[in-house]
Amino acid sequence: MNSNPSPVWHPFTQHGLGDPVQPIARGEGARLYDADGRYWIDAISSWWVTTHGHGHPRIMAAIRAQSEKLDQLIFAGWTHEPAETLAAELVRITPDPLTRVFFSDSGSTSVEVALKMALGYWFNIGEPRSRILVLDHSYHGDTIGTMSVGERGVYNRAWQPLLFDVDTIPFPYAGQEQTALDALEAACATPETGNAPAAFIVEPLILGAGGMLIYPAWVLAEMRAICARHGVLFIADEVMTGWGRTGTRFACDQAGVIPDIVCLSKGLTGGAIPLAVTLCIEPIFAAHFSADRGKAFYHSSSYTANPIACAAANANLAIWRDEPVQQRIDALADAQGAHLAILAHDPRVQNPRRLGTIAALDIAVPDDGYLSNLAPRLTAFARDRGVLLRPLGNSVYVMPPYCTMPDDLAQVWDTIGAALDLGAGG
Ligand SMILES: *Cc1c(COP(=O)(O)O)cnc(C)c1O
Repeated sequence: MNSNPSPVWHPFTQHGLGDPVQPIARGEGARLYDADGRYWIDAISSWWVTTHGHGHPRIMAAIRAQSEKLDQLIFAGWTHEPAETLAAELVRITPDPLTRVFFSDSGSTSVEVALKMALGYWFNIGEPRSRILVLDHSYHGDTIGTMSVGERGVYNRAWQPLLFDVDTIPFPYAGQEQTALDALEAACATPETGNAPAAFIVEPLILGAGGMLIYPAWVLAEMRAICARHGVLFIADEVMTGWGRTGTRFACDQAGVIPDIVCLSKGLTGGAIPLAVTLCIEPIFAAHFSADRGKAFYHSSSYTANPIACAAANANLAIWRDEPVQQRIDALADAQGAHLAILAHDPRVQNPRRLGTIAALDIAVPDDGYLSNLAPRLTAFARDRGVLLRPLGNSVYVMPPYCTMPDDLAQVWDTIGAALDLGAGG
């Protein structure tokens, strides 16, 4: 029976359990307000997208200004200034080999585009390949293609018959890095079978939805080197890690890694409005550049490079140029480290870990995986105390906007400290 009068079907929500759905009327900085003025601290940046805070004046002004000029334009055969400016700026701030920018509108589609580009490259140069290598516990989105390259589990079991096969490399846990690298080397080095991989796709330095699993920069650099040695395309999914989350603008920067293909979304517009890009190296574009129309890159969505979204992204890039964004990130990273250190030695806390502005810990519980009701109980506990958290199973993480005020951050961590006992019961 459903007593909820709303027709809205929410994502990742079990309406049958009566999970409450909290209305929000307004956002400012790191705070979300309801119609009565009660607020919640957005400790997960509204699912990892909000970087500079809600309602950043410069991004809001850019959206307003663009909406008065051009709202939407077909992007096949037509173009506009916000997209041209944005593409040029993205090419400027990323390493030189990345020369081409393909627009789409979500992280998932940017990954779909990356996979299609990789296969399109091999097909168009007359050496068709379709094998994709992935890292264990990865998440790349919720479409059929991105689920195929992600972790298989309870949250996608209904669709498994449709998912395509991939080869999975073990996650490089501490002490097992070489095992993972050897597995990647072996998966790449299969010329005798005539089944060479098309690409390896990876979340650089940290697996987000997989549980905030961190691995070292040297492993990322080694993985990139192995792919380069074997001519396997290297795809970096920076949808979550991009725009400063890991302490540097892009996670690959910390490893000195230049991917063949990069996916960016989430913080691309500062988190204000949906937009995504897939950047690639020139040879991938060149493989599609031809007098043969059949070699064109056949991918589009209706809102490809929406002008208002591009204007918001240009404002985000201006904020990175003009405001002390890196200082805010460094300060937030330090504060996160200090708060985490206070809880790190609590016997109820396991695997305290941090990468840049992202801090996470596991609450000690009997191991019963993602569907354990600890996460919803913790979410409700935090919500009652004015904090928006959304744990992954028993992993609690804090990934706030860079403008979060020290007192608000302290309240988030006090709430987590108070919640540690929830692991014992339920
Ligand atoms: C969130 C995420 C995606 C999917 O992005 P959507 O905008 O939700 O489609 C893809 N890859 C990674 C690493 C992500 O964190």
